[in-house]
Amino acid sequence: MSTPKILILGAGYGGLLTTLQLQKKLNYNEADVTLVNKHTYHYLTTWLHEPAAGTAPADHARVDLDGIIDKSKINFVKGVVERIQPAEQTVTLQDQRVLSYDYLVIALGSEPETFGIEGLKEHAFSIRSINAVREIREHIEYMFAKYKNEPERTDYLTIVIGGAGFTGIEFSGEVADRIPELCKEFDVDPSLVKVYNIEAAPTALPGFDKELVDYAVDVLTRKGIEFRINTPIKQCKPDGVVLATGEEIKAGTVVWTGGVRGNSIVEKSGFEVMRGRVKVDEYLRAPGYENVFVVGDCALVFNEQGRPYPPTAQIAVQEGENCGDNLVALIRKEKMTPFVPNLQGTLASLGKGEGIGIVGQKKVFGPTAALLKKGSDLRYLYKIGGLGLALKKVRL
Ligand code: FAD
Ligand code: NAD
Repeated sequence: MSTPKILILGAGYGGLLTTLQLQKKLNYNEADVTLVNKHTYHYLTTWLHEPAAGTAPADHARVDLDGIIDKSKINFVKGVVERIQPAEQTVTLQDQRVLSYDYLVIALGSEPETFGIEGLKEHAFSIRSINAVREIREHIEYMFAKYKNEPERTDYLTIVIGGAGFTGIEFSGEVADRIPELCKEFDVDPSLVKVYNIEAAPTALPGFDKELVDYAVDVLTRKGIEFRINTPIKQCKPDGVVLATGEEIKAGTVVWTGGVRGNSIVEKSGFEVMRGRVKVDEYLRAPGYENVFVVGDCALVFNEQGRPYPPTAQIAVQEGENCGDNLVALIRKEKMTPFVPNLQGTLASLGKGEGIGIVGQKKVFGPTAALLKKGSDLRYLYKIGGLGLALKKVRL
């Protein structure tokens, strides 16, 4: 029999960990492994709120794949996936190259969920990639520069953050930290700058522990963020947002952090999805396709109570490792292991040196939470690139 071909789409948390597991465990010539990714780098999506606000350079969240992938074991293809043809076992790239596979791993991440809200796709930014966050940072700076030339347009200095889930809360913390620096750089009176975090649900961070939510809202409010809770955004315009109450907030910058859905390529390729995510079996396979695995934000996994796990890097990493192990097992005609998440908790930053979280059963606040988050980031970097990478990226 010819060497089985494994094709992995996407080098984010899920795809990279699948690849690294195969790199570690497969013997030479046991399989022909190819990783396809849009860029020659992996990025830490979990850090993107920092470069988006400008509190860290975008490069900091990038890791060159060259440094972590062993090209003698893994073929790397820089390309943009356009479509998957599961019946033919092929994948077409944007440049019309066609790649074939025996086993496929879909790890293409997520896209912003706009719920059909008018104008959001056209006029709001979202925190989704290195290139997207470069644009947000530059745009905010441009708005400050523009205000200096049109001082009657104080709305240029208003930033609307749409959604107070974890992304909206973490981004609010970074923006609050950046504003004093921007005001100094552009000679702007800080009292003219407004940052709104607007949330549809009756609370910020819906579903999270109330004491921690109250702490986060209190810290961010003291840093100058104005929360509008229980207030859905119903329209986005080129110059701001309209709320369900009818109120209009004029703003030079609108960043949508109102949720995500699985990459639309999956649905376009004919897989059955819920909010763009494939309801996978216990081995993370797409229904009807025993050779197609789905990991990360494109996969939908339910807990014992029948509720979906939220799409997180933590789960994507564990899914990638499980998928890599199961591919090795399949190739060796051994038994696969069902995927069982091992959730360690949740940690979120609220800007420099501030955070909240639950680790095991314990609630953590302030600098302790911020430090634990740094620790968990370092553990991830160590996992993918060893001590060298962890030390290179550490920022305290
Ligand atoms: P991703 O990591 O997004 O990777 C997808 C990869 O696919 C990327 O490399 C992309 O370039 C590539 N790709 C996409 N489309 C194509 C295409 N058409 N062709 C080729 N390549 C393509 N989760 C946590 O657990 N903890 C956190 O602290 C945390 N913080 C977050 C902070 C922010 C600001 C955000 C936005 C999210 C955060 N998350 C966090 C969620 C977490 O980042 C995601 O759940 C995680 O990135 C999902 O991993 P993934 O592998 O599915 O996708
Ligand atoms: P989310 O779905 O968790 O939060 C989106 C928020 O936007 C919700 O609170 C929702 O009520 C609100 N919203 C929706 N429509 C709205 C409207 N019309 N107007 C105003 N508000 C509206 O999305 P997210 O925050 O982008 O997170 C995506 C995933 O990534 C989640 O699974 C999250 O847990 C994970 N994440 C984790 C961390 C962390 O662990 N530190 C950080 C960021 C993201």
